[in-house]
Amino acid sequence: MLESAGHEVHTTKIAQDELPAKLPEYDVICVRSATKVRADLIDQCPNLKIIGRGGVGLDNIDVDHAASKDINVINTPAASSQAVAELAIGQMFSLARFLYDADRKMPTQGATDFKTLKKNYGSGVELRGKTLGIIGFGRIGQEVARIGLGLGMEVMPVDMAFDEMRIEVDIFRSRNASLSLTLPTAEMDEMLVEADFITIHVPFKTGGKALIGAAELAKMKNGVHLINTARGGAIDENALLAALESGRVAGAALDVFENEPSPRKDLLTHPRIALTPHIGAATKEAQRKIGLLLATQIIDILK
Ligand code: NAD
Repeated sequence: MLESAGHEVHTTKIAQDELPAKLPEYDVICVRSATKVRADLIDQCPNLKIIGRGGVGLDNIDVDHAASKDINVINTPAASSQAVAELAIGQMFSLARFLYDADRKMPTQGATDFKTLKKNYGSGVELRGKTLGIIGFGRIGQEVARIGLGLGMEVMPVDMAFDEMRIEVDIFRSRNASLSLTLPTAEMDEMLVEADFITIHVPFKTGGKALIGAAELAKMKNGVHLINTARGGAIDENALLAALESGRVAGAALDVFENEPSPRKDLLTHPRIALTPHIGAATKEAQRKIGLLLATQIIDILK
């Protein structure tokens, strides 16, 4: 798209420490989450007109400094909502039936301890009828709700910004059929005591304090399942480990970690934590949407 619109595109990745030397010749830079575009780098790039972030969070870019120099900072907040929501729901199925652990143990113990494993994973639960707490009822939270409703879950969203939200659920896309319903949001404390599964979808800007810490965990049902695909640190990792030990939390699924890219070992080796390496947005469809949305915005701005 960019080349068809007459732009020259370089797709080679430039290492962070080479950026001050190489970036000044560019008008536009597109980054994901790893590359830091801080004020000192921005100051060295007189031609820079656009900083594009493929994804949601802008914590790796000095947005205010860029704005003060009339540089457009663009991102693609909606492109990965479906991808993240499907991962969160996938992990609920995995936790409910111990899929992640069975998959770890079957290759080494399946042939010798089949009956023991069968017994160990014999007390799975079903998602239908369970209460699904969704913290943060924005783009991703609403996608999770759509799937949760389809599964017959009691959806309990929590959001600090509104009391209710009207959402459309496509039920038969090819026939243009959809359901439209208004979901009230719950108070956090009300949801914490009711939910069987709790999934987090807030931006991590909660004043440095974890959204879910020991106090919140203490209010949850015994045997609750937790899923964090939002940001590392949204759940206090020490408090989570303690709650897994006490049995308050039956299982947790983490896609994001406080110490990325080197998460702590006791999380990585825990028998009741399902793990993925920050792949929430990593689907072919989301990557394509991210590319198309960035290209469309860049072409528009440079017109
Ligand atoms: P969004 O801005 O559309 O929605 C966030 C919602 O959370 C808003 O409605 C806001 O009012 C609410 N909120 C904020 N703080 C809250 C609080 N303390 N309590 C209750 N509600 C609160 O964001 P989104 O697009 O749905 O993204 C959500 C999160 O997902 C972000 O943290 C983003 O970084 C993360 N994310 C992760 C991946 C991944 O790869 N795992 C990919 C994309 C996005």
